Amino acid sequence: MIDLSEALELIEAHALTLAPRRIQLCDAFGLTLASPVIADVDSPSWDRAMMDGFAVCNDDFIRSELASPEAVSLEVIADVAAGDPSSITIRSGTCARIMTGAPLPTGADSVVPIECARGTSRSAHTGSTVTLADKHFHSGQHVAIRGTFFGSGKEVMSIGMQLGAAEIGLATEAGATHVTIHPRARVSICSTGSELVEPSEIPAFGQTRNSNGPMISAAVQTCFAEPIPLGIAIDHPEAIRATVAQGLAADVLILSGGVSAGDYDLVPNILSLCGVTNVFHKVRLKPGKPVWFGVLNRDNGPRTLVFGLPGNPGSSLVCFELFVRPALAKLHGHSSERWHMPRVQARLTGAVKLGGDRPVFSPCRLSRSINNSELWTASPMPWGGSSDLIGFCGANGFLVVPVGVGMLPAGSEITVAVRDQPMRL
Ligand code: AMP
Ligand code: MG
Repeated sequence: MIDLSEALELIEAHALTLAPRRIQLCDAFGLTLASPVIADVDSPSWDRAMMDGFAVCNDDFIRSELASPEAVSLEVIADVAAGDPSSITIRSGTCARIMTGAPLPTGADSVVPIECARGTSRSAHTGSTVTLADKHFHSGQHVAIRGTFFGSGKEVMSIGMQLGAAEIGLATEAGATHVTIHPRARVSICSTGSELVEPSEIPAFGQTRNSNGPMISAAVQTCFAEPIPLGIAIDHPEAIRATVAQGLAADVLILSGGVSAGDYDLVPNILSLCGVTNVFHKVRLKPGKPVWFGVLNRDNGPRTLVFGLPGNPGSSLVCFELFVRPALAKLHGHSSERWHMPRVQARLTGAVKLGGDRPVFSPCRLSRSINNSELWTASPMPWGGSSDLIGFCGANGFLVVPVGVGMLPAGSEITVAVRDQPMRL
């Protein structure tokens, strides 16, 4: 049995970042750039009106001889909507009615918002006169000058950036229909156990629904990897061997169940018969002690990482967060500070009596009041142990209870490992 820190170092050493590939931007959500995105246009590509109003010459407002500076009357010589390639020129004494997003006509420098039009002149269009009063006028107002945000040829996103919604929007604006990323890891998921039945079945006496399969699939998706569900393999060597053989075609194979010390815990032997080299088996940890990790190395091809997670659902979940998530983060090209669950210090709202001869990871809810710049607070979830999932539902962290702690009273400070879930404060 090894310590958690040693287990994590071994995983880091064996997980190799997947070779970059060029794919369509629309398929790249959540992935990390392996090449920068270079803009093929200026943004904006022309001087752009940022308000609905009138495109005017600065001089008419700054050194106005046409009227008092508070109220300027101008002849409207064009209406310019977004998308209109207008060829008109605005000269002193004239203006164009303009809509947000439209190109500013030649000669105009600023936009006076529609709200500044006096009385009925608010509805002035081509051929009529508008009277504008803008107390706050300044040159160049409400215009985004060509290239303000980025110029053609500029790197708008650098290597290592993860493509979220904003990044996909910016890449699109910059002309990247394709991006070079570290590809989505393909993750086979197999649940072992003769007692398991499909989720749609009503379990007979002694049977259990395969809840780990869908749970691990969901966890894989939160890492932006691709789950490949392989279903259930009964505790029979040939059944497990056949599934393992299939699962080894992926970048990662996750098995659940069959890694403890029972008579039917066949997984470690079968993995070694299939050529998978064991890296560690059993980690000083609760829940999750029986966890198994190995690698299938190929002479002329990519390696497959293999995780044997304990079958109890709570253990499977904790082991996924502690061991599989960092491996996927490294495969996906994240920088090392993003591999592991972040740790924060928090104050317990209730007592914890969980310590023993192994560090315990038990579910909690982390929160912090907006005005409290101090510590987070951590509320332990009622939890029945490794086979209980109720305590993990709604939990956004794991209390990290150190070895030898008999009882931590409410108000004690404790380390919490933060789960990569949307944090509800
Ligand atoms: P094992 O790790 O195979 O000894 O299983 C430990 C416990 O977890 C047993 O009670 C199993 O029935 C249960 N278990 C194993 N696999 C699953 C699964 N896929 N879904 C739900 N429970 C499971
Ligand atoms: Mg089993």
